[in-house]
Amino acid sequence: MGYVYDADNIFAKILRGEIPNDTVVETEHALAFNDIAPQAPVHVLVIPKGPFVNWDHFVTAAAAEEIAGFARALHQVIEKLGLEPGVGGQGYRLIMNAGEAGVQDVQHLHAHILSGRVLGPLIERA
Ligand code: 5GP
Repeated sequence: MGYVYDADNIFAKILRGEIPNDTVVETEHALAFNDIAPQAPVHVLVIPKGPFVNWDHFVTAAAAEEIAGFARALHQVIEKLGLEPGVGGQGYRLIMNAGEAGVQDVQHLHAHILSGRVLGPLIERA
């Protein structure tokens, strides 16, 4: 089954400038902004500018330049915030939720970058 993108989702409104955001990085293909309800001292969301519901939709439907642009934008945030472990940063956790089991609330692909403290176990048991 294919994906149907809802252009009324909150991140689409952010991309159209209808809702303000606290931008960290903006590139041709992606926007990164601080999460409105941070779960860690660093909590940045990175989204592609194209209309993609989740990772699976994105990697099967997006142009190669969009996929590379999104991946590079993630790194730009990590670099800008000094998080890269290989060059003295404290590291980070990258999360993409998808679907019901992943508990994806906003139906526009987004990666969470979390850091600023030791984050502990990967997930909590329900
Ligand atoms: P999900 O559960 O879909 O993976 O994550 C959605 C994330 O979007 C949540 O962490 C939530 O706090 C964040 N969020 C929801 N609405 C807004 C908003 O209007 N602005 C910002 N900056 N973040 C939002």
